[in-house]
Amino acid sequence: MNAGAIVIVGAGQAGGWAAATLRDRGYTGRVVLLGEEPHAPYERPPLSKAVLGGHAPPESTELFSAPRLAQLQIEFAPGVSATRLRPEERRVDTSDGGVLDYERLILCMGGTPLVPALPGVGNPGVHVLRTRDDAMRLRASLGPGKRVLIVGGGWIGLEVAATARQAGCAVTVVEQAPRLCARSVQPGVSAHLAALHAAHGVDIRLQAALRAVQALPDGRTAAVLSDGVRIDVDAVVLGVGLQANDALAREAGIACERGVLVDAYCRTSAPDVYAAGDVAVTAHAAAGGRIRLESWQNAQDQGTAAARSALGDATPYVPTGAVWSEQYDAMVQIIGFPAMAMCEVLRPQADGRALLSMALDAGGRLVAAVAVDAPRELRQLRKWIAEGAVLDPALLRRPDAPLANAQIR
Ligand SMILES: Cc1cc2nc3c(=O)[nH]c(=O)nc-3n(C[C@H](O)[C@H](O)[C@H](O)COP(=O)(O)OP(=O)(O)OC[C@H]3O[C@@H](n4cnc5c(N)ncnc54)[C@H](O)[C@@H]3O)c2cc1C
Repeated sequence: MNAGAIVIVGAGQAGGWAAATLRDRGYTGRVVLLGEEPHAPYERPPLSKAVLGGHAPPESTELFSAPRLAQLQIEFAPGVSATRLRPEERRVDTSDGGVLDYERLILCMGGTPLVPALPGVGNPGVHVLRTRDDAMRLRASLGPGKRVLIVGGGWIGLEVAATARQAGCAVTVVEQAPRLCARSVQPGVSAHLAALHAAHGVDIRLQAALRAVQALPDGRTAAVLSDGVRIDVDAVVLGVGLQANDALAREAGIACERGVLVDAYCRTSAPDVYAAGDVAVTAHAAAGGRIRLESWQNAQDQGTAAARSALGDATPYVPTGAVWSEQYDAMVQIIGFPAMAMCEVLRPQADGRALLSMALDAGGRLVAAVAVDAPRELRQLRKWIAEGAVLDPALLRRPDAPLANAQIR
């Protein structure tokens, strides 16, 4: 296919990779990249780490600069949103009053942080963290002697907790579940993360929630928790989840289910419309049927795969579930999908800071794993997950038995 325009909605990580891949694969037609944000495509992981901590400038996150996009003859439109999709007419309306005709359309709109409907939540002391601008605003509230309340003990919340502690803040995390990161990891990993943060002086309160916030005359924010306790803080950070930006697709009649539904070729229910990244819900048997991933690796790989599919390459895209998180000096790596997990096996590590957690399904197959500061072991586990290896839990638990010997078949 080498005629017509390919329009990409969303100039984030998936959209940026989709655009670059089209050129990389020799597509010479028109490529339009619409970006609601004023910035060229950038990577978000440093926003909760080096950028928030003041160790890296926000510009360092840039993935493809505007000059690079121009060099690739990608028509990048910063600050211009798609406002309506019209799949029957193969048209996209844009916020600058324009109308774009497309031959192929790739949807990469990402997601928006969830904001619970609580009294006072629109207060300026309440933050979310998704964009570069969010990070710079939050960064201004961190520093020695400041107090921060983090709502949600998931990955974003815990990374912000670590960065805020390192910046000298007093940090409280409230999590309404009985354990941290409960949706994505097994209990042993949750306990390890809780111990890590407690050792760094974070006050973690499980089965606790935010009920209301109120601006105080001194510019701080009063936060009332579910047990009625009030804490006065310099910043409240909401890390309670992400909603896929699928409204445009839904309004256009494209099948969505908390995200835009795609098949293994990133195809949506509308002809010649593809989706990738945080907005896409991907068919995946090992993940329990369907999964919407919020992962750097997936955004890059699926953005690339969507572009390839749009050019007619019929290679299915199979996500691996690879995610990482950095907290203090700990590197947490996650691989696989725990949906089918029946039990967690922990392999004792010589260094108490390290952790190796393996999730096995009912047949003893390794389906997911988490390694904290154990990259070498994770390589072996990644291979086993890809192969569907069946493992012996008793050998996995024995630190004196070589890891490789744990494979039964
Ligand atoms: C603070 C933070 C830390 C993270 N850390 C990690 C990590 O350590 N490891 C990891 O694996 N993952 C991490 N992630 C997740 C990872 O960054 C995301 O999965 C990835 O950015 C998703 O890319 P995307 O392109 O799908 O969405 P995005 O990067 O969100 O890009 C979507 C873009 O589309 C734009 N858009 C939306 N609607 C429209 C429209 N109608 N018209 C035009 N443009 C539109 C949005 O403004 C946005 O710029 C982190 C995320 C955040 C926020």
